[in-house]
Amino acid sequence: MKVDTILAQAGSRRDAATGSIAIPIHPSASFQHPALGRSTGFDYSRTANPTRLALEETMAALEGGARGAAFASGLAAVDAALRLFSPGDKVAATEDLYGGTFRLFEKFGKPLNLDFIYVDTSDTEATARALDLPGVKGLFVEVPSNPLLKVADLAALGRLARQKEIFYIVDNTFLTPVVCRPFEYGADLTIYSATKYLGGHNDLIAGLAVAKTAALGERLAFIQNAVGAILGPFESWLLLRSLKTLTLRLKKHEENALAVARRLSAHPRVRNLHYPGLPSDPGHQVLAGQADGFGGMISFETESAARAAEILSSVKVFMFAESLGSAESLITYPIAQTHADIAPEIQARLGLTDCLLRLSIGLEDPGDLIDDLEAVL
Ligand SMILES: *Cc1c(COP(=O)(O)O)cnc(C)c1O
Repeated sequence: MKVDTILAQAGSRRDAATGSIAIPIHPSASFQHPALGRSTGFDYSRTANPTRLALEETMAALEGGARGAAFASGLAAVDAALRLFSPGDKVAATEDLYGGTFRLFEKFGKPLNLDFIYVDTSDTEATARALDLPGVKGLFVEVPSNPLLKVADLAALGRLARQKEIFYIVDNTFLTPVVCRPFEYGADLTIYSATKYLGGHNDLIAGLAVAKTAALGERLAFIQNAVGAILGPFESWLLLRSLKTLTLRLKKHEENALAVARRLSAHPRVRNLHYPGLPSDPGHQVLAGQADGFGGMISFETESAARAAEILSSVKVFMFAESLGSAESLITYPIAQTHADIAPEIQARLGLTDCLLRLSIGLEDPGDLIDDLEAVL
């Protein structure tokens, strides 16, 4: 079935006893066995829970993967991915990575004797050189990157990964499986902060990982059960409910983002606007070739840090808050919020300046969003 059909019926047809169309929330910690040596398929909810399983199977079906695993947060999903590596392995990763992922790699990956090489993954040749370094076993890519929205060529990286036998992970939080399905380009594992577009309503924290093959899925499920950072049944239900409208929401996020980006890019007080949906953006062509859309994230620079601070405190429709992908439009100051844990010299090299603002374009009327920004600019 196609993505929209899977989404519309997420969680349905799973309760033969009552015919319930909405998936029930199963809070049970453990499950009664019919007899010795027999099981309903559920024993203990850390290992498997019926509501969570519906979510995990929906995600696997959406992506054409073998198995999904739902976690307590996006970072718990990244942590599970890290545990797939062995001591001594090196991982090449997108250099303007989500700050929390960078912090996890540096503070908890390194003590496990993993090492990380940060590279501009929108530069396929630079990435190829990083993958040639001795000991590199993994590639971890965010697309588009955050907050600079650089676009990696997922298919080209997939070919490199296959050639060099590299384990290829894509954090697909910004695009979701509605817009981009990384398994089609050779990825082995996808990661989501479901807190963002998949949840979409700013009312839950959740993470997901999907494995392409059954063998990898089994290892992932083993980690999920052994470490225990599972998503609870209520959040699993809420996320299934949110998934039903994902395509509709993403269309509107993108329509609004394009309208805002067009207007802002022509504004005399806006510099270095990044939105891959604009044909002039360096990532436009590559993203158009590998995705069915461009997402709802924009970043740009103002003329000074003082001006950025003024904008943050004067907006009336946008809300000054970190996070993204929800119905409500948010404005974020990456250098002090989402990317505060990145070392100052790396921030400077990447162009993560104190003038940079990031917009998560919500579902409001685009005219109201534009008027709000024009008033504060
Ligand atoms: C937010 C985010 C994460 C972390 O997810 P949480 O749900 O906040 O733990 C990871 N990757 C990306 C790209 C994100 O935006």
